Amino acid sequence: MKTLSKKELRNTIRSLRRGLPTDEHRILSQRILENIKTFGILGDAKVILAFCPFDGEPDISPMFDEILKSGKDLVLPKVVGNSLKLCRVHSTETLSAGSFCILEPAECEEVDPEKIELAFIPGVAFDKRGCRLGMGKGYYDRILGRVKGLKVGVAFSFQVLEKIPCDPWDQRVDAVLTEEGIFYRR
Ligand code: ADP
Ligand code: MG
Repeated sequence: MKTLSKKELRNTIRSLRRGLPTDEHRILSQRILENIKTFGILGDAKVILAFCPFDGEPDISPMFDEILKSGKDLVLPKVVGNSLKLCRVHSTETLSAGSFCILEPAECEEVDPEKIELAFIPGVAFDKRGCRLGMGKGYYDRILGRVKGLKVGVAFSFQVLEKIPCDPWDQRVDAVLTEEGIFYRR
C-alpha cells in the first residue's frame, strides 16, 4: 500500500473533519467530554492546557467553566509569530464573544510549559504509537518536549490511524482520547 505523505494525509483528514455535519460534531464532542469524565482524566492535575476548536476540531470548551470552578488553572494556546504561547485564562468571558473561544489579541498571562500538569492536544491525525500530525507548522512539536504532565491527544475516531508518518522532531502524546474511548501509546 502506498504510504501517504504528511501533506496528503493532512488534506484528506482535514476535509473529512470539516465535512462532519454540525449535529454529528456536537454529539461526538459531547461523547469526548463524557469520556474525559468517565476515565477521570482531569484527576489531580492543577494546571490544565486545553484548546479552542479550530477547523472542525472536537469542542471540549464546555468543560472550561468546570475547570475554573474547581479551582484549577486553565491554559490555552495562542499563536504569536512562529510559536505557541501558553496563556492562563481566568474566565471564559475573556474569550472573545462572537468568535467564542478566541483569546483576545493583547491578552496573555504566560505559563511555562514545564508547569503544565495535564495537556489536551488537538491534532489532524494520531497513531497507535502516539505520533501526531498537526497543521504543518510544528507549533506543538516546539513546546511539547518541555511539558512534563500527561499529554492527551483529542480527536474523533476517524482521525486515529494504525501508523502515520512520524519525523524525528515529532513529539508524541501519551494517550489519545476519542468519542470511542482512550488508548495509551504503544
Ligand atoms: P506538524 O507537527 O504541525 O504536523 P511538522 O511535524 O511537519 O508539522 O513540522 C513542521 C515544521 O516545523 C518542520 O519543517 C520542522 O522542521 C519544524 N519543526 C518541528 N519541530 C521543531 C523543533 N523542535 N524545532 C525547530 N523546528 C521544528
Ligand atoms: Mg510534527
